[in-house]
Amino acid sequence: MELRKDPITRSWVITGDDPGETGPRIESACRFCEGSAAPLQIIAKSPNAPGVPWSARSVVHPTPLYHIEGEAGRRGDGIYDRMHAVGAHEVLVENPRHDRHLWNASDDEIAHVLRLAAERILDLKRDPRIKYVSLFKDYGKNAGQEFNHPTSQITATMFVPRRVLYELRAGREYFIGKERCVFCDIIQQEERQAVRVLEVRGDYLSVCPYAPRVPYETWILPRNHDASFERTGLNKPGLRTNLAALIRRTLQRVRSVTEEFHLVLHTSPSSLHPSKNLGYWKTIDDDYHWHIEILPVVVSKARSYTFKEVYYSPVSSESAVKQLREAKIDG
Ligand SMILES: [Zn+2]
Ligand SMILES: [Zn+2]
Ligand SMILES: [Zn+2]
Repeated sequence: MELRKDPITRSWVITGDDPGETGPRIESACRFCEGSAAPLQIIAKSPNAPGVPWSARSVVHPTPLYHIEGEAGRRGDGIYDRMHAVGAHEVLVENPRHDRHLWNASDDEIAHVLRLAAERILDLKRDPRIKYVSLFKDYGKNAGQEFNHPTSQITATMFVPRRVLYELRAGREYFIGKERCVFCDIIQQEERQAVRVLEVRGDYLSVCPYAPRVPYETWILPRNHDASFERTGLNKPGLRTNLAALIRRTLQRVRSVTEEFHLVLHTSPSSLHPSKNLGYWKTIDDDYHWHIEILPVVVSKARSYTFKEVYYSPVSSESAVKQLREAKIDG
């Protein structure tokens, strides 16, 4: 596998011929459960919870896409650019128990996951080669779920993923024109109109975006401006509990429509890379605003003809938010 850059969109892609599965495909026991025989390279654990040795932990992905050793060896190939897939790929085991997911675990347990995620992001950003750290979760067969155990994944890459790059560029342009954060402006207008706001919980808000890419798309954002999740995630335990509750409740709402979803955290890139050509770094603390995006997978509403070129979402945000608000929530 290697990384190649599309010279037109300037997006990096990871590509190569997959050698396929070499080991046994079906695992008899869950490798992430407490006491599993499968060897795990543990990187970090959350602080102990009463009665259990750990509450969340981060381990090396058993078949990593990115490898921490080596140099990127970025080089030209005629007009093209390529480099080795250097970086990190971790599995964030959210809970020692096989049946405690982000929608049915306790808020304390979810807060432990958030804290560990913040620690891992900060730690990986200390590596001067790393430009961006992604945290994401795929749940459900049609969402590309890899493991049955409650897990998220973390990748640290030497490039900023495409969607985040769009957001950084757009945030910067908006800031140049208005000297305001576009996300803060969105939050203010949504709170004022109260049409697409799903729930407000302390300093956090869940909202169905004005122009959804998929039906029931939902974002979770801090209501006060902050470019970096890992700062909030580490420094303010009270905020973490509110955020944990909002994530849990939002996922319960989404699950009233579909079990399958992608969840992704968008936070600021590494500040060790004040790259002039990227151009976004100078005002990043003012013009970027971290958030979580939840993209439900509603197979019955998928249409192949959109080819992902133009998003097609046959449920308006205004209808989606009504349905999600009425979902039955426990706790
Ligand atoms: Zn398990
Ligand atoms: Zn903001
Ligand atoms: Zn985003």
